[in-house]
Amino acid sequence: MDTPCPPASLYDLSFAQMQARLAADGLKPVHATSLWKLLYARLEPRPEAVEELAPPLKRWLAKHWGATYGGHNAEVCERIESSDRQTRKMLLRLSDGQIIETVVMGYPGRFTACLSTQAGCAMGCVFCATGQMGFVRNLRAGEILAQILEAQRLLRADGNFLRNLVLMGMGEPFQNYDAVMQALSAATHSPGFCLGPAHISVSTVGVVPGIVRFTEERQPYSLGISLHASSDQERSALLPVNQRWPLSELIKACKYYAARSGRRVFFGWTLIHGRNDSLESAARLVELLKGLDAHVNLIRLNATAGFEGVSTAAAAADAFRAAVQAGGLPCTIRQYRGIDVAAGCGQLRAERLPRQSPAKALPA
Ligand code: SAH
Ligand code: SF4
Repeated sequence: MDTPCPPASLYDLSFAQMQARLAADGLKPVHATSLWKLLYARLEPRPEAVEELAPPLKRWLAKHWGATYGGHNAEVCERIESSDRQTRKMLLRLSDGQIIETVVMGYPGRFTACLSTQAGCAMGCVFCATGQMGFVRNLRAGEILAQILEAQRLLRADGNFLRNLVLMGMGEPFQNYDAVMQALSAATHSPGFCLGPAHISVSTVGVVPGIVRFTEERQPYSLGISLHASSDQERSALLPVNQRWPLSELIKACKYYAARSGRRVFFGWTLIHGRNDSLESAARLVELLKGLDAHVNLIRLNATAGFEGVSTAAAAADAFRAAVQAGGLPCTIRQYRGIDVAAGCGQLRAERLPRQSPAKALPA
């Protein structure tokens, strides 16, 4: 099912790999630091053309940028803004023609980028535009980093900078675990993007082995679980993944994570009229998460072409929240940002490329 990845770029190297690669060609550790800064602090679009580099690094880049390593691995092919400019969405074209989405959201005093981790997604959640598209391939670490790079460039043009990352774009991060963790490690490396691990959140639909690995590796990022239902019957009808890892296993893994990390777990719940928004669902949710340090974020469904469900009305969402809170669980309703830029997961891409077959690459 997985199609081969396009050639590697320099952005796919971790800092240690970059050091080792340069050392193998006789360059010093300081050259790796300069190159890393050039890519991730200066956001240099043409590193091979920068004049003031140390001659050995300049020579190395002249030889390898573009030739050994495929130069840039993503380019922005479309940018749109919500009417209030608080949500900006980019479509990035990868070197094999795949198109992915990145969203930059502004909140008072801070900016957050929502990143994609796969082209498409194999998990098939019925209400999700990315799930409806099917799986194409995993992104490489450099392609995940390219999204941070472009978000930072966008913000820097206005004198701002990125503070938070959420892995809530296209794809399931725990189905592309290694590339995701390498990209996050690079995003927190100093010098470079220098993002704080506490400002990074990884969201999973409930891939239990990924949650266990994340816990055992003591990854320093926040964990979000897309829960959406409090009985196996309701959940399996919305999220096929529940048939593989049912609620009992998922909650056990969440408890393991919470106990080992001492951190709160954030649960996402998309409210769909008549499917998961009853007060009985809310009461079961409270029971399910008993004993866990948890926070529930409710989002009202953002309609997609491939799903006939409708969003819960605002008053019913308020009643659901009140029932959860009355059970002692912290619970908030989040606005789906930038509806007018189709900022739901995978929606802009689906809108622009409605008949793209899941397993085929777009022409470059
Ligand atoms: N695959 C991961 C990361 C993507 S996160 C995960 O599912 O957690 C995207 C979030 O938006 C998920 O919680 C998902 O369930 C939710 N979502 C997807 N499509 C949506 C829609 N049409 N309306 C509201 N929420 C949606
Ligand atoms: Fe994949 Fe997440 Fe969409 Fe489900 S909600 S199809 S896991 S991206």
